[in-house]
Amino acid sequence: MADTGINTRTVHADRAFGVEHGGVRKPIHTSVQYGFDTVEELVGVFQGTVKGYNYARQGTPTTAALEARINALEDGQGTIAFATGMAAISAVFFTLLRAGDHLVVSQYVFGNTNSVLGTLRGLGVEVTLVDATRADAVAAAIQPHTRMVFVETVANPGTQVADLQGIGQLCQQRGLVYVVDNTVTSPALFRPKAVGASLVINSLTKTIGGHGTALGGSVTDTGLFDWAGYPHIFQAYRQGNPRTWGLTQIRKKGLRDLGGSLSSEHAHAIGTGAETLALRQRQCSDTALALAQFLAQHPAVARVHYPLLPSHPQHDRAQGLFKAGSWLLSFELADASDCLAFINRLQIPVKGTGLADTRTLVIPVAHTIFWEAGPEVRAQMGIADGLIRLSVGLEDVADLQADLAQALG
Ligand SMILES: *Cc1c(COP(=O)(O)O)cnc(C)c1O
Repeated sequence: MADTGINTRTVHADRAFGVEHGGVRKPIHTSVQYGFDTVEELVGVFQGTVKGYNYARQGTPTTAALEARINALEDGQGTIAFATGMAAISAVFFTLLRAGDHLVVSQYVFGNTNSVLGTLRGLGVEVTLVDATRADAVAAAIQPHTRMVFVETVANPGTQVADLQGIGQLCQQRGLVYVVDNTVTSPALFRPKAVGASLVINSLTKTIGGHGTALGGSVTDTGLFDWAGYPHIFQAYRQGNPRTWGLTQIRKKGLRDLGGSLSSEHAHAIGTGAETLALRQRQCSDTALALAQFLAQHPAVARVHYPLLPSHPQHDRAQGLFKAGSWLLSFELADASDCLAFINRLQIPVKGTGLADTRTLVIPVAHTIFWEAGPEVRAQMGIADGLIRLSVGLEDVADLQADLAQALG
């Protein structure tokens, strides 16, 4: 079903992986252990000559079905599911980088990703933060020992859009691993493979699961990077097609050794949510754009950050790359000191952290998720003290707009 539309492909993806007892949905495989009729089969699974499962930390039929689904969505060569988005990101960093390597990262990354960079520095990896909205800033940061460039499609909470295409060309010319975190856009709006990404990250907790009931993450290898020239692939994984070596190492070292494995129960919940991914992303994006336009013309609002507003600094880029603008929207009130009182006046959005739930979520950014980062990091990331983030859900747009209107007074 490679050339079918996104909805057709998504809802049928796990059947392509094998139907059990005619069951239309993939069952939840709860077994940790896997037994075999003969010891030769057991040995074969360990040695990789027989396809099968041996211990659930390295995956189950249920997580494998989810991996097949994400892989179809991202048009990948292979995908690995993890317990969280952070487990996926950490697995990429810790299995592919060594002391003495240099890593270039967008200065506008997710707060916890930024936190991992501190851990990497402690282990001897040099990290340079750059303004990834400009490919020339990334180019200027590259050194002879640079191995990898890491960016997000749309940054949270400021909605900066990386120069995804320009950085892709740069990474290809320099032979660098290009990692793109596609969490905010999701494969429903954008496929990083189209701009040359080597590895694609998704926090399945967000858009793909979509219902706020399960944590998960994934790494997809697009098949574009030639791992034959990458120095840190262990000898045991240098077998067969070199394009598969990187993912083999991430699976073996990342899942088996680091152990951030997704449970079958959560894989099932995420897979069910994923079936409506494109429908939800379209609805949330339409609503978010309407709310962004409403806020932008309101006298009590000083600034609105949304990629598809003409006032957004990367508007043309977002328009050219993404099918829609996503659920992520942030704004500043003209009177920043009214930020907390304003949020208390809202009736519909849930006051809470998190992203891409069916329900709209609202949070004051500087007071919460970027509190620990401190004023310096906030200034560098362009996060104003009164910045308010909305993760737009599936409520009716008229109700959300009326609620914002009454709270703005
Ligand atoms: C939430 C998020 C993550 C981490 O995902 P978890 O599933 O919460 O661990 C990584 N990147 C981005 C852009 C995110 O929004």
